[in-house]
Amino acid sequence: MRAEIITVGDELLTGFTVNTNAAVLGQKLLEVGVGPCWVTVVSDNEEEISSAVRRSVERADVVIVTGGLGPTADDRTREGVAAGAGRKLELRSDLLGRMRERWRARGPEMPESNTRQAYIPQGAAAIENRVGTAPGFRMTCAGVDVFVIPGPPAEMRGMLEDAILPYLESRFPDRIRKYRTLHTIGWPESGIAQVLSERLPGSLQADEQWSLAYLPHAGSVDLRIGASGSPDQVNRTLRGVARRIRRILGPVVYGTDGQTLESVVGSLLRTKGLSVAVAESCTGGLISHLLTNVPGSSGYFDRAVVAYSNRTKTSVLGVNPGTLRAHGAVSEEVAVEMAWGVRRLAGTRIGLSATGIAGPGGGTKAKPVGLVYVGLSVGRRACGFRFRFPGGRELVKRRSARAALNVLRLYLLGGTLDGLEP
Ligand code: AMP
Ligand code: MG
Repeated sequence: MRAEIITVGDELLTGFTVNTNAAVLGQKLLEVGVGPCWVTVVSDNEEEISSAVRRSVERADVVIVTGGLGPTADDRTREGVAAGAGRKLELRSDLLGRMRERWRARGPEMPESNTRQAYIPQGAAAIENRVGTAPGFRMTCAGVDVFVIPGPPAEMRGMLEDAILPYLESRFPDRIRKYRTLHTIGWPESGIAQVLSERLPGSLQADEQWSLAYLPHAGSVDLRIGASGSPDQVNRTLRGVARRIRRILGPVVYGTDGQTLESVVGSLLRTKGLSVAVAESCTGGLISHLLTNVPGSSGYFDRAVVAYSNRTKTSVLGVNPGTLRAHGAVSEEVAVEMAWGVRRLAGTRIGLSATGIAGPGGGTKAKPVGLVYVGLSVGRRACGFRFRFPGGRELVKRRSARAALNVLRLYLLGGTLDGLEP
């Protein structure tokens, strides 16, 4: 089942309005098993609209047109679609009556110019608009379902959900498409793809049954598994593929379907009855911010010390001035002493720290921008981890904070500091 989305409006072409309708339509259509194959953007021009509609019914099974159904003369979608389908527009008095009623219920009389919105192509079925006043319509052109709905995103969404998706679901009942996302951290996209291509046949080539998309962002890669078929088949495929990927990648996968790294860390801490304190140098409080974004985090998060100056590192965290002189503030040794120090200060079982060079300046050959050390102290033991992150200041901070959380997660999963490989 192949869909074409036609979005109409000069403002979409020039980028004055971001084409959010295309994104929403694409996602929602996929959920009912109709794959969006083309997104067309056209100006508010009758001829452009009619030729876009003619082209779409030649290649797609389902066409959705949105935008340009307003009451003013600059909106030409009604005329363009009718011309493209070779039909005349007719005034539907039932629609006009309903529009007048809705206007009356809201306040002023309906302006005469709105009468335009009660015209739809001959033979089309009206689609009710629960949010606004302009009705939409559906018609069949050469066996292709063509839906035409207004552009305001809330109206578009309402009509999509009220009328179009249920229609498509009943038309193609045994074909849905669903997704499951596995969130990973620590491995680059290419490394994951290499391992999966060797051990998971079919992961390189999308087929009728399932597909795999790599969605990288800020040091993490989301693996989005898509499956098509009957609801039963789809659930079975998603479950099976997700299980196989988890088995291959092990703890590189930290969560599913929107689970955050901090919530995963939080539930591990809660389950194990452990608490953590944090010492942050290059992350400016971001590790603590992420941890405390999770409801109930006060049950395991004790405190943070944001220590940018050497003075605070020594006087509050108890970092040895000799260590700072010998190795510099950005070093594995200092990261370890910071983690150790904050754990002692707070009396928690775990101390976590980060120190690094977020840039853009301040890097040297030996210690370049993006060099970050994470320290982890548990009970009487402590260890440090070295990272090198690309990107600007905020991205380095974000990656560092997530790397620190991941070090903690891996420790909590394994229960030992030995052999941790974040
Ligand atoms: P229209 O239906 O063309 O009169 O558009 C009404 C409002 O919806 C305008 O503010 C448009 O910018 C907005 N709009 C129309 N199409 C889209 C779209 N594809 N994505 C986001 N907003 C849109
Ligand atoms: Mg418009």
